[in-house]
Amino acid sequence: MSEASDIAVVRSLLFPWWDGHARDLPWRFGRTTPWGVLVSEVMSQQTQMSRVVPYWIAWMEVWPDARALSMASSAEVITAWGRLGYPRRALRLQSCARVVTEAYDDVLPRSYEELTALPGIGDYTASAVMSFAYGERIAVIDTNIRRVLSRVFLGIESQGGTASREERELAARVLPQDADESVTWNQTIMELGALVCSAKNPQCEQCPLARVCAFNLAGKPGLGHKPTRPRQHFKGTDRQVRGLILEALRTLPSGSRISHDDVAALWPVTGQLDSCLASLDEDGLIEIHPDSSVSFPS
Ligand code: SF4
Repeated sequence: MSEASDIAVVRSLLFPWWDGHARDLPWRFGRTTPWGVLVSEVMSQQTQMSRVVPYWIAWMEVWPDARALSMASSAEVITAWGRLGYPRRALRLQSCARVVTEAYDDVLPRSYEELTALPGIGDYTASAVMSFAYGERIAVIDTNIRRVLSRVFLGIESQGGTASREERELAARVLPQDADESVTWNQTIMELGALVCSAKNPQCEQCPLARVCAFNLAGKPGLGHKPTRPRQHFKGTDRQVRGLILEALRTLPSGSRISHDDVAALWPVTGQLDSCLASLDEDGLIEIHPDSSVSFPS
């Protein structure tokens, strides 16, 4: 399909689909603050949105704004992060909350430059906040959007790694001029990638773009092929060991420590356990005391 003439066709097929299929996530449809949108985006990095919902609801009840989060203890924040994974994100979000509170009087800034200068906020999150929270016209580029745009307009799989210049240019070219439409466009392409146009098993027969998608029309050449490094299995990894240590701390009453013996019982490979303890300590997620007991940071 030729891109320039068919962007309008894609849009005309996509927007009704969004109206009928968009998930009713609690941070959508103007029901939360820009800070709430940012929290949802940080939680959704590396974690499926459907899994994020209960965590986001509980989190926003306790810490509805940056100021509230900035006053929480690290232990509370790491505990509330629960099983969302990659818990350093929780501490970075709290660092971000402290800057927003102190430098911006608890109002999340709205320029790209200010947002990307906040701790833990990169290109994707800044763009998502500008689009979804502030309604600005900006191309949001995440894995789902890259995959869908590349398939629909170029007829090929997007490449792994960071977004290429071609992918960024494509995302900018096809973005609707109207700001409101650009927001719906970003959300819809992302949602289609999450629900229908999955990496390995796209449901083309249920897709509103089936008859115009270049990838589908070409017979899905090289489906799922990506020159990326193979996915690491979870079992036996440092991620698993770090998760076990944090989970053990979460189950204790606030302020408690785990003794060295109890920590040692968590994992049989002593060298790996020690290096995971060291890395958690380095990341500021735990504190190791002189008697080798472990606690959340005070
Ligand atoms: S037709 Fe298939 S490959 Fe194309 S966007 Fe839809 S689900 Fe993805």
